[in-house]
Amino acid sequence: MMPFTYTRAQDAGDALRLGSEPGARYLGGGTNLVDLMRESIECPGALIDVTGLSAEIEQRPDGSLLIGGATRNTALASHRAVRTRYPVLARAITAGASAQIRNMATVGGNILQRTRCAYFYDDEGSRCNKRSPGQGCDAVEGFNRMHAILGASPSCVATHPSDMCVALVALDAVVHLQGSRGKRALPLVELHRLPEDRPEIETWLEPGELITAVELPALAFSARSTYRKVRDRSSYAFALVSVAAAMELDGHTVKDVRIALGGVAHKPWRAWKAEAALRGQAATAESFRAAAEAELADAKPLRDNGFKVELAKRTIAAVLAELAGGKS
Ligand code: SF4
Repeated sequence: MMPFTYTRAQDAGDALRLGSEPGARYLGGGTNLVDLMRESIECPGALIDVTGLSAEIEQRPDGSLLIGGATRNTALASHRAVRTRYPVLARAITAGASAQIRNMATVGGNILQRTRCAYFYDDEGSRCNKRSPGQGCDAVEGFNRMHAILGASPSCVATHPSDMCVALVALDAVVHLQGSRGKRALPLVELHRLPEDRPEIETWLEPGELITAVELPALAFSARSTYRKVRDRSSYAFALVSVAAAMELDGHTVKDVRIALGGVAHKPWRAWKAEAALRGQAATAESFRAAAEAELADAKPLRDNGFKVELAKRTIAAVLAELAGGKS
């Protein structure tokens, strides 16, 4: 591990000043970044600890929640408003990691965690465009069972590992950012990038920009929501496929719906096509399946992960059936 300095930021201004220095990285719970440093995948010269910044969960008059960027995952998943009004989020966080990791991980850090592609971590034996731009990608022709089926490119077929982000994307969450040019807010679904030919650039954050908070808008039907994660073993593992969804019914008709997928793309994947196919349709197994088919129509599986296409379709349909009160 390379030598680095450690500084605990006193407030957002302090963090921004320190974080603008070349080679500086913000440090949340360290559950991903420290691993990457141990493996020499990341070698920041300075760590700016931002865990002392806002960890409040504010319930606002318009019904939205404003969640401080330093809020620990455990605190968020166990908050009464989250458990009762946004169960999809509580379930996604709980499915994401062990209690010990949830106790350390922050909301901002969870959003910015990096792929768990094994080739990315193998800096001595594998080529990886994300780790060494222009080097090539050994996953494309390698063992790619865990990799992407949507939105990938010849440069990178990695998936985003977060469960929490899948729920947040389904709930129309907005990230609040602060940087050298001031404050701004961005829908979370627009924060992460697809790989295209620059997989080493994973978000639309500007250099030194800090996630100060995440806003969960009031969504009338968010209490009717859930998260299902399909993984290789029942203890903690990254998703093969996961589905976050919320649904509003008018009798037996789908009035409105939100769906997002995990484990299938370089970013948390909002299932816009499935949602459009479902609004106004009868809440039946046939329309749930048709919506899933619409979303996966553009899937491009790799050698080892063709099963993900059908798995994603079945998981979408099962989650929607569960929300509609049917069997899943
Ligand atoms: Fe690297 Fe992406 Fe290829 Fe994995 S899939 S080896 S992260 S370029």
